[in-house]
Amino acid sequence: MTFPFARISELGRHAGQTVTVRGWVTHLRSSGKVAFVVMRDGSGQLQGVVVKNAVAPETWETFGQLTHEASLAVTGEVRADARAPGGYELGISAITLVGASPLDYPIQPKEHGVDFLLDRRHFWLRSPRQVAILRIRHEVEQAIHDFFYERDFVRADTPILTAAIGERAGLFSTEYFDEGTAYLAQTGQLYGEALAASLGRIYTFGPTFRAEKSKTRRHLTEFWMIEPEMAWYDQTDNMDLQEEFVRFLVQRVLERRQDELKVLERDTSKLACVMEPFVRLDYGDAVKLCQSKGSDIQWGEDLGAPDEALIVAEYERPVFVMNYPKEAKAFYMKENPADPRTVLCADLLAPEGRGEIIGGSQREDDHDKLLHRLREEGLPEEAYDWYLDLRRYGTFVHSGFGLGLERTVAWIAGVEHIREVIPFPRLMDRLRP
Ligand code: ATP
Ligand code: MG
Ligand code: MG
Ligand code: MG
Repeated sequence: MTFPFARISELGRHAGQTVTVRGWVTHLRSSGKVAFVVMRDGSGQLQGVVVKNAVAPETWETFGQLTHEASLAVTGEVRADARAPGGYELGISAITLVGASPLDYPIQPKEHGVDFLLDRRHFWLRSPRQVAILRIRHEVEQAIHDFFYERDFVRADTPILTAAIGERAGLFSTEYFDEGTAYLAQTGQLYGEALAASLGRIYTFGPTFRAEKSKTRRHLTEFWMIEPEMAWYDQTDNMDLQEEFVRFLVQRVLERRQDELKVLERDTSKLACVMEPFVRLDYGDAVKLCQSKGSDIQWGEDLGAPDEALIVAEYERPVFVMNYPKEAKAFYMKENPADPRTVLCADLLAPEGRGEIIGGSQREDDHDKLLHRLREEGLPEEAYDWYLDLRRYGTFVHSGFGLGLERTVAWIAGVEHIREVIPFPRLMDRLRP
């Protein structure tokens, strides 16, 4: 006789019925007369009970062959049990061992070093902690799409193989037929600007690549960035949108991912600060604040991670640091009319010492000023010809920003290092698995 298949998260619909659940063994225990198997299927965890006297001898024998991480199908009656994870227990009548798992499964219930786990990332991903992190990441991604869809932004994808570059970080390059060198995109922004002149409000959401030579808790060489670009938004409109957006993402995770946040032992009270207005601090004042706290940063320099930590510690809520000096920022940012040494931009620093999660700016819409900045930076003009065209033909006020998905997820989930919030992290010394 066959029974319907059920996912663990759906067992509530099958209370009192007999179903078959498929998944992997996470835990085994037996008294000799009664045996328990805890299994997972990606949707949840289930405890199954086998009573020796109540099942066929083959079933009891099969239980004896189960090992940690073996895959299996179990059939049994779904019984409500308040003590069981998920609220249901399965009274097992039949077991099929689908795929055996030898006893040398590398991840054992003991402490392992991070490098050991990263080398076995394909297995590490099976742990409850990693499942919780990836579900939160997914929730954030979905919330991103919902936020922009509700506001009539069009998602428009931008190329990954490019001739022009957008940021100063290290480049990955490859030979491209007769065209010379192609670079893996560090940002989709320049293309996003062209799309904003087509669709008005757009966002790109794709992988970006930077040959980061530093080993920090917040730099990957391949990461995902969400980059909205809006026609007719000035830098204040831009920051207002970012504030609403970040608040939306945090609230969504709090609403829908409490179980996962509990697995991660996240102190969610720390996230309440996003409901208050974000601080808006001028770069000059930020430098003075850091200096008064012992930093040796000088006006003109980009803020380092320790400076960012000093600033957020002062306010304990998200902080925009606005209007950086030109030389500290990329060529495309608009000159600040109130102080031409600076540009109309802001970095958004997340609380709890997380540092920058967003970089945003109003874009330079004056053709000659943009060309001047390109030359100052020593960038190849021919590669940016099409980009300059956007200022030659119907130039327009526009702004946008880039939010790093992994940094945002790591902050919301309370995960220390961003390598844990992407399924297969790419770091300077890690290309496998
Ligand atoms: P940082 O100063 O921390 O190096 P950045 O100023 O170089 O960051 P931007 O070019 O402003 O970064 O990119 C926009 C966003 O993309 C950042 O605010 C951050 O959230 C994310 N980001 C940038 N570089 C990385 C990276 N190497 N790994 C993961 N996320 C990154
Ligand atoms: Mg950088
Ligand atoms: Mg930065
Ligand atoms: Mg930045």
